[in-house]
Amino acid sequence: MARSHRTPRRQFAVIGAGMAGLACARTLQRAGHAVQVFEAAPEPGGRVATHLSPFGSFDTGAQYFTVRDARFTQALDTTAPDLVRRWSANAVRVLDEHGRVVEAAPPRRDAHWVAIPAMHRLPQRWAEPLQAASALHLGTRVTHIARDALVPARWQLHTQGLEGDQRVHAGFDRVILAVPASQARSLLLISELPSLAEALAAVDMAPCWTLMLAYPNASQPGLQTLGPQWNAARSTHHRVAWLARESSKPGREPVERWTVQASPLGRANTRTTMPAA
Ligand SMILES: Cc1cc2nc3c(=O)[nH]c(=O)nc-3n(C[C@H](O)[C@H](O)[C@H](O)COP(=O)(O)OP(=O)(O)OC[C@H]3O[C@@H](n4cnc5c(N)ncnc54)[C@H](O)[C@@H]3O)c2cc1C
Repeated sequence: MARSHRTPRRQFAVIGAGMAGLACARTLQRAGHAVQVFEAAPEPGGRVATHLSPFGSFDTGAQYFTVRDARFTQALDTTAPDLVRRWSANAVRVLDEHGRVVEAAPPRRDAHWVAIPAMHRLPQRWAEPLQAASALHLGTRVTHIARDALVPARWQLHTQGLEGDQRVHAGFDRVILAVPASQARSLLLISELPSLAEALAAVDMAPCWTLMLAYPNASQPGLQTLGPQWNAARSTHHRVAWLARESSKPGREPVERWTVQASPLGRANTRTTMPAA
């Protein structure tokens, strides 16, 4: 994508290097603008996250993605054709309150796609051109947005590194927040930008617990898997929303592993302890 001669080259700050921030920053960079991305975590990816354990990887956030938009197809084909594989979780089961299968194989609408060898590889790949241009600041939390001290038409960001080191990055024409709504709202309120924060007050976000289970001894000659003969299930249990056999995803380590994601926890019960299985 080339920048039109009529569009001036602008300085953009993007806060958040999840999929949204990375896609936005890359698009701006390819359009010829100057972009700096600030990410609080030491790795890019946000909620497309992977936990690496001695038994193999667990995708702790997004489990898979669908590809419904031609532009997304093109983005994957051009940036990560070697990283994306189809996951045959096609028969996603639905479990009742007691864990019994109530729907065996609901009709499949979209294919499930995953990154190999784990989900975090896709945002890592998308971050590479930004890192190559020294445009990605990892481990750098934006703590305050303010008018630029020298050029008030512009913006500056106050940041804090993982070691507590503080910096000011100035000279941005535009600041893009690509963070969850609740975090965007807090940042805007701290930055004394209440009118921008107002629209986000209506967005309700709930935390979600992820349980990672590994069964290194669960193998028997002649049996492909122990346990359920399905690989993914949505659950109507009031605490469990999703179960997936990590080891069934392509390119993963063979040790039997399950990721269990809790139903969204309301504010009232975020302190509820889950009984051990
Ligand atoms: C448990 C779970 C399961 C999911 N399963 C699926 C699925 O199967 N399929 C699917 O398509 N989607 C799934 N999703 C949703 C998907 O993961 C998200 O919609 C998507 O990853 C959000 O991307 P994002 O870039 O908007 O935000 P995020 O990924 O949240 O990225 C925001 C980034 O901003 C950073 N940040 C926040 N505040 C600051 C700050 N002040 N300064 C600097 N950086 C900051 C954060 O560290 C984070 O990296 C799931 C989500 C969860 C939580």
